[in-house]
Amino acid sequence: MIIRLQKRRLIFFTFMITLTIFALAFLFGIKATQTGKKEYIKWAEMKVCLQALEDTMSLDIETYDKLYHISWIDSLSYLACKNGNNWSSYSSDDLDEMLTELGDIYTVEDLMGDNKYFSYYKETFSAMLGGFLSEYEKQAPDGEGGEKIVSGYGLVAYSPIAEGFSYSHYDDFGNGRSYGYRRKHLGNDLMGYVGTPVVAVEGGTVESFGWNRYGGWRLGIRSFDGKRSYYYAHLRKDKPYAEGIELGSKVKAGQVIGYMGMTGYSDTENVNGMSAPHLHFGLQLIFDESQKEGTNQIWLDMYNIVKLLSKNRATVTKNEDGHYVRKYDIILKSYPDSLQKYFY
Ligand SMILES: [Zn+2]
Repeated sequence: MIIRLQKRRLIFFTFMITLTIFALAFLFGIKATQTGKKEYIKWAEMKVCLQALEDTMSLDIETYDKLYHISWIDSLSYLACKNGNNWSSYSSDDLDEMLTELGDIYTVEDLMGDNKYFSYYKETFSAMLGGFLSEYEKQAPDGEGGEKIVSGYGLVAYSPIAEGFSYSHYDDFGNGRSYGYRRKHLGNDLMGYVGTPVVAVEGGTVESFGWNRYGGWRLGIRSFDGKRSYYYAHLRKDKPYAEGIELGSKVKAGQVIGYMGMTGYSDTENVNGMSAPHLHFGLQLIFDESQKEGTNQIWLDMYNIVKLLSKNRATVTKNEDGHYVRKYDIILKSYPDSLQKYFY
C-alpha cells in the first residue's frame, strides 16, 4: 500500500516537474523571440544579365508617370522568381510575358501575392539598385556652349570612369588572389591609365579613406540609405584623391573623387604594388551592420552594372590647380541638405 502510494507520488512529481520544465521553456522561448535579433538577409548575388537590367530599367522609366508604374525592382524580382535567379537564357520575351500576365489591372506586387521568394528578391534588388533610378534636377549643356537646368526621372548612378577616358574590363569576379592570403576577387577591375578621373557611382559619405595594404590608396563610400558601400581602390601614387575628399565627406553621384593608379599590396604607404594601372571597383551590401566587417560580407559581381552605367558617364573639366571636376552637377531629393545646391 505504502509502496503504491510512493509510486503514485513519484509519478505525480515527475509529471509536475515535466510540466514546469515545459512551461519555463515556453516562456523563455517567447522571451527569446521578443528580444531576439531582427532577421536580416544573409546572402545575395548579382547575377542579372545586362539585357534584363536594360529592359526592366526602360520599362521603369517609361511607366514612371503612368497610372501603374512598374519599377525595375518589381520586374527583376518577378523574373528572378520565374528563373530561380539564373539569367543565362533570359530574353526580352520574358518581360513581355509578365506584362501580358499583368493585364492592365494588377501591380506586380498583387500578381505575386505573398510569394516569399518575391519578397526576398524585392528586398535584395532594392538594396542593390535602390539608388540608381530617381527624380533629378541637373545641369546640362544647352547646345549653345552654355548650361541649362533640366529635371526628370531616370538613371542617376554614374560610370566610375569619367567620360572621354578609355578603359577595358571583363568579368573577373571570384577569380583567385594570393597577396596576403588566398581569397577571391570581390569586384571588377577597370584597366586604364594613371590619372584617369574616378567618379562616385552613387552619392554617399566617405567611410574609409587612406592607405590599406590590399587596396593601396582607397575610398569606401556608404550610400545615404546605408545599404551599399562602394569601394574604389589602387588610386594614384602621391595624388590619389580629388580636392576636398576626406573621411566623412559627403559626395554626389558623378562627382570626381580620385584618380586611377596602381597602389596597394604593400604595408608601406604610397607604393605602386599593382602590375598595371586599374581601378578596383566593388560594392558591398549591408542589411545589418554586423555584415560590414568580418566573415559575413556580401560583395556583388559588378561587371554588368558597370556595363549598364557606361551609358551615364560624368563630363569633367580640368581646373587651374590641375584637378578634374565635374562639369554638370546634379541634385537629388535623397541628398542631405548640404548637397541641395549646385557646386560647379
Ligand atoms: Zn581588383
